[in-house]
Amino acid sequence: MERHRLRAVYEDDLIKLLESIGIKRAIEKGELKCHVCNEVVTIDSLQAIIPLKKNIGVLCSKTTCLNKIELETR
Ligand SMILES: [Zn+2]
Repeated sequence: MERHRLRAVYEDDLIKLLESIGIKRAIEKGELKCHVCNEVVTIDSLQAIIPLKKNIGVLCSKTTCLNKIELETR
């Protein structure tokens, strides 16, 4: 129960964040793709938001994608 509630709050905050940076609609429409593997990222599979030079990139839930970004930004 407790865990479920935390998850719900987290998702609420995430959606607000996505809205504030202007990519919520794009995610909901399936228009955003993982910066690394180019797979469509949904709110469920969104792992991280990364600032790029001109816009905002997103990462899917794969550990390999996160690892690759960490290597690139190091
Ligand atoms: Zn990916």
